[in-house]
Amino acid sequence: DVTATKGNEFEDYFLKRELLMGIYEKGFESPSPIQEESIPIALTGRDILARAKNGTGKTAAFCIPALEKIDQAKNAIQVVILVPTRELALQTSQVCKELGKYLKIQVMVTTGGTSLKDDIMRLYQPVHLVVGTPGRILDLVRKDICVLKDCSMLIVDEADKLLSPEFQPSIEQLIGFLPAKRQILLFSATFPVTVKGFKDRYLSKPFTINLMDELTLKGITHYYAFVEERQKVHCLNTLFSKLQINQSIIFCNSVNRVELLAKKITELGYSCFYIHAKMLQDHRNRVFHDFRNGACRNLVCTDLFTRGIDIQAVNVVINFDFPKNSETYLHRVGRSGRYGHLGLAVNLITYEDRFDLYRIEQELAAEIKQIPPQIDQAIY
Ligand code: ADP
Ligand code: MG
Repeated sequence: DVTATKGNEFEDYFLKRELLMGIYEKGFESPSPIQEESIPIALTGRDILARAKNGTGKTAAFCIPALEKIDQAKNAIQVVILVPTRELALQTSQVCKELGKYLKIQVMVTTGGTSLKDDIMRLYQPVHLVVGTPGRILDLVRKDICVLKDCSMLIVDEADKLLSPEFQPSIEQLIGFLPAKRQILLFSATFPVTVKGFKDRYLSKPFTINLMDELTLKGITHYYAFVEERQKVHCLNTLFSKLQINQSIIFCNSVNRVELLAKKITELGYSCFYIHAKMLQDHRNRVFHDFRNGACRNLVCTDLFTRGIDIQAVNVVINFDFPKNSETYLHRVGRSGRYGHLGLAVNLITYEDRFDLYRIEQELAAEIKQIPPQIDQAIY
């Protein structure tokens, strides 16, 4: 239960009045557990390694201290927030803008796949906070277009993903451009051992927060349906007719399968969008934006959409293709059940998937039950 807290209030943190107004206007009444743990520590300037369940408010847990620490009178980039995808960058910058509505903090989003020229033009204007993907930011820093000498706070969201071999080298190089006195905050729902090496090298006496044990996958009911590959679409059709879907996200394991499935769902007469990394960025933005605004009930996607994305209306996640590891499972399924809402996860399992199912069930200590003929509407 995300509302079970120590009983702190946002007033307890001595935040700027304008920031407090933004927090309340966003509808946050009191801090969530991860916010209670991280905000006061982050304000003291200490490094943090924080792990908390999906949908429990990690974004505000780092955005609030970041916004508090920025000196708006100083024309310099003071905080960088790293995220793995453009969609997440836009979402996070939106949270910063909303929380900072009454502050005069300039936020910039920069990610690969967009015009470098636009970023260069943007950086002629004041920027206090940058949200983006590591590769693009590093590119701008190396070209001396983006200057990080006053950037004393680096936030790495979805840290385990960003510290995988794909991104880690860029992040290490970026750290080289930060001033010596700097604070690093790592946030994620999952922390595999790969993070340890990085932590030992770059964080100094980090404060470790782990709110995972008691919170793992709470509020989400997991089912599986045993199917043959060729029955999957038929099975999905049955699910659509039986479930009360508010909005659903349907995961496939490849770009091709996403496109094929989206076509089949449309042919079945259900509204459906799809999104994957091979689409043009403009198109991706439009789909994401429209789905979030409820323009469509179902979204088919690859793991591009697995991380961090927060759409509260999603009450059902379907693994049309079963994921290969428990971290991916956790992140996918965490797209439902956001901030204390309930959610349903349905996994289509083929004979080949059966061992993955057992393994993931064990690793997550989650019970994935066979889907019953009728599902109680009250559980999602
Ligand atoms: P996470 O990054 O931990 O997966 P998010 O930061 O995306 O979670 O937050 C999930 C949802 O919870 C968002 O819709 C956010 O607006 C909401 N939320 C966060 N903090 C609070 C709070 N203190 N009170 C009410 N809602 C909150
Ligand atoms: Mg998040």
